[in-house]
Amino acid sequence: SAGSDENDVVVIGGGPGGYVAAIKAAQLGLKTTCIEKRGALGGTCLNVGCIPSKALLHSSHMYHEAKTTFAKHGVKFDNVEVDLAAMMGQKDKAVSGLTKGIEGLFKKNKVTYVKGYGKFLSPSEISVDGLEGENTVVKGKNIIIATGSDVKGLPGITIDEKRIVSSTGALALTEIPKKLIVIGAGYIGLEMGSVWARLGSEVTVVEFAPDIVPSMDGEIRKQFQRSLEKQKMKFMLKTKVVAVDTSTDIVKLTLEPSAGGDQSILEADVVLVSAGRNPFTAGLGLEAIGVETDKIGRIPVDKRFSTNVKGVFAIGDVIPGPMLAHKAEEDGIACVEFIAGKEGHVDYDKVPGVVYTHPEVASVGKTEEQVKELGIAYTVGKFPMLGNSRAKSIDDAEGLVKIIAEKETDKVLGVHIMCSNAGELIHEAALALTYDASSEDIARTCHAHPTLSEAVKEAAMATYDKAIHI
Ligand code: FAD
Repeated sequence: SAGSDENDVVVIGGGPGGYVAAIKAAQLGLKTTCIEKRGALGGTCLNVGCIPSKALLHSSHMYHEAKTTFAKHGVKFDNVEVDLAAMMGQKDKAVSGLTKGIEGLFKKNKVTYVKGYGKFLSPSEISVDGLEGENTVVKGKNIIIATGSDVKGLPGITIDEKRIVSSTGALALTEIPKKLIVIGAGYIGLEMGSVWARLGSEVTVVEFAPDIVPSMDGEIRKQFQRSLEKQKMKFMLKTKVVAVDTSTDIVKLTLEPSAGGDQSILEADVVLVSAGRNPFTAGLGLEAIGVETDKIGRIPVDKRFSTNVKGVFAIGDVIPGPMLAHKAEEDGIACVEFIAGKEGHVDYDKVPGVVYTHPEVASVGKTEEQVKELGIAYTVGKFPMLGNSRAKSIDDAEGLVKIIAEKETDKVLGVHIMCSNAGELIHEAALALTYDASSEDIARTCHAHPTLSEAVKEAAMATYDKAIHI
């Protein structure tokens, strides 16, 4: 049956790590099979992550803009309404189109696609329980574990995906909750909170830590939080959830300061638990072949993405490193290049991170806090979007660009951007870091006018010299 002859590469998991690895392996001339249990390719990212969330962020942003800013631009209509079913339908269409697109790419590149749950029998044999009950054994000289991650629950809270939801349920609500509580102020919680806040929910974000998005540059984070507060999102930081009561129509959360103290009750129609994600290796049979995992269930790998068992590799969310789709893809390509006898390389210090709210926040490289902690002498250049003509012309001038460079050499160490489209703007900074560019290199690169990207150039000018437009 499909995939039962020996493969050069077998990939377990068809997410952005796994499917990209499979395509790249086939492109390098390796006989490749990819096993996926979900019935659709694309993994968390495409099915219940990056893609559906961005679809809803876009749709809800359009509604919010129509309601709050169109009239200012001279675009008027009588009534703006949300048709939630249609909005969800648009999201589902985007997801299914892209999922089928990957199946098409598998065919084009001659990757064998096996639908089912994979489990190690030996380091070169995978037993697959097919979606229709049939069982096959897939053999491969090299096996890549790309099984990704799953929602992390909280002790004492049962996720029913209706009133107590994970991000998966929050992407598929059938009604707009009047009150939504988000537990966890990471990027997923803030993105999903934004979606529902724009559609009319009263959103309160409860976070155990003293700050939202801990990985963010502190200065940017402060401005970002203020911006979300202006959008009527409420924050309860340094607060923990101690109990949840779902016995009545309304969900009641008992809260307490993280450090202990007086309890309070917060009510909601829907509670989103977004306290992080766990590596997923359930039912994979790692113990049977002796693949080690660390304290939090991740699979440690060496520079070639090899586990402690020869011929067994691991990539993506299931290994240490940023839990992001593009990082998983980079892992996948490098891992397969090593298997094919070439060289591969992924620098986790240069993986951009983006929060797709409005404004967006994007960053690459080190934060000011990290540079300080490393004891590196540095300079900072900043440029507010208020000085950017394109941002002013479209009346969307919230935010700034901040560049951190090494004082002695002017080498760019980190770039942090908050503005609409920051997620697109960040890539010239990523390229600058890859090429060890100086802030002067960015500043002397001719940037088209009028573009938001000019703010990056101006911030670079301000890093080693002075900006013009502020
Ligand atoms: P996954 O995408 O989790 O894929 C693993 C696949 O393996 C799954 O499809 C699973 O069914 C399958 N599998 C597992 N075990 C087996 C088995 N034994 N046999 C067969 N198949 C198996 N990242 C970004 O970069 N940008 C974003 O905007 C972004 N937004 C997100 C929004 C949300 C709401 C969520 C939840 C995540 C988001 N992420 C985002 C994170 C991103 O989804 C993950 O980092 C990415 O999907 C990891 O890719 P992966 O291939 O390692 O694993």
